[in-house]
Amino acid sequence: MPRDQAAAFLHALAAANPTPQTELIYTDAFSLLCAVVLSAQSTDAMVNKVTPALFEAAPDPAAMAALGAEGIGPLIRRLGLWQGKARNLAALGALLVERHGGEVPRTREGLEALPGVGRKTANVVLNVMFGEETMAVDTHIFRLGNRTGLAPGHNPREVEDMLVKRCPPGLLRDAHHWLILHGRHVCKARQPECWRCPAVRFCNYRDKVLPPAA
Ligand code: SF4
Repeated sequence: MPRDQAAAFLHALAAANPTPQTELIYTDAFSLLCAVVLSAQSTDAMVNKVTPALFEAAPDPAAMAALGAEGIGPLIRRLGLWQGKARNLAALGALLVERHGGEVPRTREGLEALPGVGRKTANVVLNVMFGEETMAVDTHIFRLGNRTGLAPGHNPREVEDMLVKRCPPGLLRDAHHWLILHGRHVCKARQPECWRCPAVRFCNYRDKVLPPAA
């Protein structure tokens, strides 16, 4: 997809949702980081159901480390991979205290060195909390990038790099949200709802889906 078409695609999503936000509930960098770690293999809606009790019990890294995997586990049992996530959150809290004075680091290197934090999670935190123009490629953006021709790639990193290349300056930060929300709610995995897609004119997907028969 040429850059001007990619820009038109993103501007169409922007017009439909000028101030996009993450759907995860958080109050600070630490709670955002924990929520994103918990969101692997789980929906944001499900994460939002468990985090109020978790953050009440462990509002900061020291408290999370003190709660330990044994204390965290029962609070997040409704999530997929909860045992590993409980271990990661406990270790993450301890490392933040030990290496960063209890603060969430603002660098990719610092973030990716934390337990349970990979490139995608670091990109979300850098984008949402620290205002950086990063593109976190989740399953929705990976699918959408390939399906629409906006950013084809064999793996999330290729899609990320293509989006960074094609996205007009200044739009990248919000583009992360536009694309995730669009993939979740309109350009869905099983069947895209092209009949109500604001970017339909700029999408290269060949088998566009018509409205269901009344
Ligand atoms: S037209 Fe259809 S396939 Fe293309 S972005 Fe919109 S919903 Fe997705």
